[in-house]
Amino acid sequence: MPGPCNLKKKRKQQAKREKKSLLQRTDDYKEEEPSPPPVYEPATESDVSNDPCPDYDHDELLPATPNIYDPGTGPRIRSAREFLSSYFAQPPSLNDPLCAEFAHEEILQMLCTVLPEEAAIILWYNKSRAKGRVCPSCRRLYNLGDVLPDLIQDSSKCSLEPRSSNLAREQFISGLCSPLCFVMASFNHPGAIKATWGRVAEEMDDVTWDLLNGPGVGVGDEGLGLLLKMTRLDDLGLAQLCLPDVDVDI
Ligand SMILES: [Zn+2]
Repeated sequence: MPGPCNLKKKRKQQAKREKKSLLQRTDDYKEEEPSPPPVYEPATESDVSNDPCPDYDHDELLPATPNIYDPGTGPRIRSAREFLSSYFAQPPSLNDPLCAEFAHEEILQMLCTVLPEEAAIILWYNKSRAKGRVCPSCRRLYNLGDVLPDLIQDSSKCSLEPRSSNLAREQFISGLCSPLCFVMASFNHPGAIKATWGRVAEEMDDVTWDLLNGPGVGVGDEGLGLLLKMTRLDDLGLAQLCLPDVDVDI
């Protein structure tokens, strides 16, 4: 009589049969293909001439990782240097006097002496382009005025919140794209976060400026804390950082 117990028994038997036939197939396979010991034969001239692409490095056939990718919150770059020479990078805004000053190659070289290369390139790009931005923290690619998706994804909130004026100013000043990225960049100076957000040096009090000038809590931040401080100053503080004895007018 068919019942749960019988069904169980039947399934067990079937599984046994399947296992057995699988073993048999494996044995058959073994019988059909006796595996001779591998013999190493050096490549002959004729082998080489049969290669349709003898000069081609076959490793290059592997697809390269794209420099721009989108994790769902907008396009981001992996390498700032690669991005800078790509089609996607905007040209320097030479019509804007301040951007044109920053667009000089020498400025990038100076930035590279005080910041890690990636941070230096991103800062240089942001200061020499009127609208194009790369967030120094999350490396999101955007334009000033874009409404960006929240980095912490919550689709119900996404893009609907009114833009804070501090956020717009921060994007203009440093390129940091969101409150979260700003907090990441100021991680070394937690006491200065609120008073620095969206402000430049002359809008900040001495206590905040002293905090930014201090050593901070000593977290390795790949230059983000220094970038945050530099961007509060019109000339990024380069005159003081690189040429303390020369009067540079940017
Ligand atoms: Zn960001």
